[in-house]
Amino acid sequence: MSSFCQERMLLGRPCGRPAYVDPASGLPSDKCIFHCYKETGGFTEFQNALDAYLSSNPKDYDFHRFVFPCRGWKFPSVFPECAYFNYAVFKGDVYFGLTRFQKKAVFTEVTFEGRANFCTAKFNWDGFFLNSEFRSLVDFAGAEFCLGQTDFRFCKFRGDVTFFDCKFQKGVAFPFARFEKAVDFRDTLFGGNSDFSEAVFAEPERVTFSGNNLSHVSFARCNIAKTIFQRVEWLGIPVWPKAGILRRWIRNGVVDELPSSGQVNHEDLAQTYRRLQHNYMENYRYSEAGDFFVGERESLRRGKVKWRQYASIDFLYKLASLYGESYTLPFVWLAVLLLLTPLALLAAVGSDCNVTYWHAFLENLELFIFPRIPDASCAATAVSRLTICTEKVLVVLFVSLLLLALRRKFKRKSF
Ligand SMILES: [Zn+2]
Repeated sequence: MSSFCQERMLLGRPCGRPAYVDPASGLPSDKCIFHCYKETGGFTEFQNALDAYLSSNPKDYDFHRFVFPCRGWKFPSVFPECAYFNYAVFKGDVYFGLTRFQKKAVFTEVTFEGRANFCTAKFNWDGFFLNSEFRSLVDFAGAEFCLGQTDFRFCKFRGDVTFFDCKFQKGVAFPFARFEKAVDFRDTLFGGNSDFSEAVFAEPERVTFSGNNLSHVSFARCNIAKTIFQRVEWLGIPVWPKAGILRRWIRNGVVDELPSSGQVNHEDLAQTYRRLQHNYMENYRYSEAGDFFVGERESLRRGKVKWRQYASIDFLYKLASLYGESYTLPFVWLAVLLLLTPLALLAAVGSDCNVTYWHAFLENLELFIFPRIPDASCAATAVSRLTICTEKVLVVLFVSLLLLALRRKFKRKSF
C-alpha cells in the first residue's frame, strides 16, 4: 500500500499527500485526510489541514474529490482564485452564504448530502454545478452570478430549492435538471438567455415563477403546464412581423420562436405553447392563453414547407381572424367588403347606368339587409349578381368569425 494518496486532482495529477492514519486505531488509510471516504475522527485535524492548504496560496484551489466531513470545517469568505470542487462530497450541511468567488467556481459532479446554503453568495465569474446532486434543501436566495456562464445542467435537486431574488446576470442553464420538490423562482433575475429545456419538475404545481422577466427564457420540452406563473413578463412578438406599422401589434411569446435562438423546432415550440395555453386557461387568464394559442398555430404553420405556409387554410384563417382570436380583423374585413362591393358593382354595370357610388353603396346595403331581386336596370347583370352572391357568402363568413372571436373573449368556462 502506497503511503501517499493517489487520488486524481486537477488535470489528472495524483494528490501525493501523505496517507491518513486513524489516530484511534492507528490503522493507515490509502488516501490522505481530504480524500478519506470514511468519516474522519479528528475534525480539528481536518480543519487544520484545510487551513494550511488555503493559506499556502495556491494558483487555483483544487478540492477535486475531497470528502468533507459532517462538521468541523469552514471556508474563508473570499476565494480570490479559481475554486475546483469537482467530484467532491459534502457529507453534511454546507454554508457558502456571503462567500465571494472572485474567479471561476466549479462544483461539477459534486454531491451535497446535507443542506447547501449559497444564500447571498456572489459569483464574479463562471459558476458551474454541472451534474451535481443536491440531496437536501438548497438555498441560493439573494445569490448573484455576475459574469461568465452559470450552469446547472443535469443537476438533481432532491429537496426544496429556492432561487428567491437570485440574480443570473448573464442567464443560466438548467437543461435536463431534475427538481423533485418545491422550487422558488420568485423575483429571480434572468438577465441573459436562460434555458430550462428538458428540465423536469416532479411537482410542477409547487414551482413558482413570480415577478420575473421570462422574455429570454426557453422552456422547450419542459413540463410547465401546471407551474405557477405570477406577474411574469413574456417576450413580445409581432403578430404580423413583415407588415410595416402592424408590427406594433404584439402578442406574448417565448424566445424559442425567434430565429436568432438557433434552429427552431416547430413541434417542440407548439408543445411549449400548448402547455402554456393549458396553464393560463386553468388560471382563467384568457388573454394570455389566446396569445399562446396563436403561437401554437403559428408554430405549426411555419413548420410546413415555404409555399404551404401561405397557400393554406391556416394562413387564410390567420388573415381573416387571427385563428379566431381577433374580433377586430373580421370587423375590418366586413367594413372593407361593404365599402368595396359598390365599386365592383359600378364597374360591372359600366357607364351606361348613371348611378353614383353613394347610390350603389345604399343599394348594396339594402340588398344585404332586405334580400330582394336586384334592380333590373343597374344591378342585374351576371357579373354584378355574382359579385353580390360572393359578398353575401363572405359577409356570413366574417360575421361568423366575429361572433366566434367574441364568444372566445367572453366565455369563461372553456375554450
Ligand atoms: Zn488525497
